[in-house]
Amino acid sequence: MKIRETVKNFSPYNPGTAEAGIRMDKNESPFSLPEELKGKVLGELEKLTVNRYPQSSGDSLREKLADFHYLKKDNIVVGSGSDQLISYSTHLFAGKHAVVTPPTFSMYRFYAELNGLDVRPVPLGEDFGLQVKKIKDNLNGAAVVFLCSPNNPTGNTFDRGKIVEILETGVPVVLDEAYGEFADETNMNLIKGYDNLVVLRTFSKAFGLAGARVGFAAGDSDVVGHMLRVKPPYNLNSFSLRVAELLLDHYELVRDRIDLLTEQRKKLYNRFERYSHPSEANFLLMNLDASDYLLDRGISVRSFTGRLAEYIRVTVGTKEENDRFTHALKSYISDQI
Ligand SMILES: *Cc1c(COP(=O)(O)O)cnc(C)c1O
Repeated sequence: MKIRETVKNFSPYNPGTAEAGIRMDKNESPFSLPEELKGKVLGELEKLTVNRYPQSSGDSLREKLADFHYLKKDNIVVGSGSDQLISYSTHLFAGKHAVVTPPTFSMYRFYAELNGLDVRPVPLGEDFGLQVKKIKDNLNGAAVVFLCSPNNPTGNTFDRGKIVEILETGVPVVLDEAYGEFADETNMNLIKGYDNLVVLRTFSKAFGLAGARVGFAAGDSDVVGHMLRVKPPYNLNSFSLRVAELLLDHYELVRDRIDLLTEQRKKLYNRFERYSHPSEANFLLMNLDASDYLLDRGISVRSFTGRLAEYIRVTVGTKEENDRFTHALKSYISDQI
């Protein structure tokens, strides 16, 4: 048996930290399904014809997403988490390498390498902004550029003008907006002007469906049509499709939670302003090396190596969780002095 060299060099995905009572390490929603919807979800389970295959491309969810975002069904492809769509995007475009902008989401590199692309990192600048000129210097022969805004793990959004400048080169751009619902503005509407843009969204964060694995990509019907060709049939199961539709039908409940978390993020930012990087996501990057200290107190946060070795990434939780976190981090800070 011969295993590919690329695969031998991979290590299994390591989500980062041990699990504690308070989980502020994976940018999940602290809220499970709204109480108002639990009965409806059970009703859906009862009706489910699980002996039958689901819709091959999840068309009824695609229709709902299209209505929701003022697009057409042909502009939407759904995936088993947006992770799966990151993978498809590395199969799609001709070229030799993918451009990524670290520190950023590690899955772009993972899928690019797995699917045979070289990876060209163009690090973010000092303020974690895009270095457009350097990116442009690396576009010759590029298959795709992966951008993440708001960026995980830094939390900031990228200037729309800079994103546009990269789009203007004509190179395919995958813009991951996994945290778009928490931001003041998103760039989804750029797909109307740029057929080389694919925007990724997920139900795992603001919608609180990380366990159901639902994401989608939006783009020009041509690029989406090609994505549908590389996508295996039935890539989303019937149950996940229905739960995602239910949440879209009751978006006001989701919106309330987004507002609550955004407000909590602002509170946490103000409490630790000296250490926090500005964020438009449901997490804060803080310049404090406190992950072990917090874990000892039952709170898991994300830690890093390399450029962010002295930082933690903290997912905004419920008010109670954030208050307990605040208490623990304040004692960490006063212990340091
Ligand atoms: C969490 C996250 C995702 C979502 O992944 P799913 O597969 O949809 O759960 C995608 N991109 C980024 C940057 C993320 O942080």
